[in-house]
This record gives sequence, C-alpha cells and structure tokens, in this order.
Amino acid sequence: MEYKFPPFLTTVLTNLLKRKSTRPYPYQKRAPYPEVRGILKNQVEKCIFCGSCSLKCPANCIEINKQEGTWQYKPYLCILCGNCEAACPVKCLTHTTDFPLPCLEKKEILLKGTPPKRKQDKK
Ligand code: SF4
Ligand code: SF4
Repeated sequence: MEYKFPPFLTTVLTNLLKRKSTRPYPYQKRAPYPEVRGILKNQVEKCIFCGSCSLKCPANCIEINKQEGTWQYKPYLCILCGNCEAACPVKCLTHTTDFPLPCLEKKEILLKGTPPKRKQDKK
C-alpha cells in the first residue's frame, strides 16, 4: 500500500518555520503611528473657555462653563474623532498616543481654569 503524506502536515511545517505574524503583547508593544489619536488632554491653563470644542463634538462629551471657568469631559462617550483638537483656537487640546483603557465606571474629568476677563470687567 502506498503511503500518502497528509496534506495538512505541509501547512503545519511551513507555519512552524515561518516568522511569527503576531507580537507577544503586552510584553512587546508596537510603536504607535504618528497620527494616532489617543487620550484627550487639556492644558486648562491655556484654555479661554470659548466653547468651540464643545460645539464641534459629535458625541456631546464636552461641557464648558465660561463664568465658572470649568471644562468638563466625559471620556466614556468620546469617539476620538479629533474635531475638538482641530477646533481649539489656542491649541490647548491634544490627543496623546496612549489609548484609553477599558473602564468599569463612568468617570468624568472636570478641569478648572481662569477664563479671560471681559472688556467691561477690566475697567
Ligand atoms: S475627540 Fe471627538 S468625540 Fe472626543 S471630545 Fe473631541 S470632538 Fe468629542
Ligand atoms: S476650544 Fe480650546 S480654548 Fe476653547 S473651550 Fe475648548 S479647550 Fe478651551
């Protein structure tokens, strides 16, 4: 009787000898792409509380209170679209290259700054 080499063995042997297609994550992490949008950060000391980020946000996750100088952000709603960063006139919003981690609680970020004084208040 003629012996037949099982066809799957060719695939198994080829795959064993090939270079790995995956990385041993989390021990080896891939460097992020330069344009990646990760966690959103606000340098609130630069913020002028203009509200542009809030207006441009499609997920309604930013609330501004100009009188109180507060910038409130709901990261769990954020879709990392980058609209807020592009709309900010003073460039105080930036996305880091770190991706937000999964969370069990809906935590909000509340930052307090100093809104610029209005002309009539300066007098
Ligand atoms: S990245 Fe997009 S969804 Fe997230 S806060 Fe900015 S505008 Fe809103
Ligand atoms: S767009 Fe920029 S300056 Fe205006 S409220 Fe948002 S973070 Fe502040």
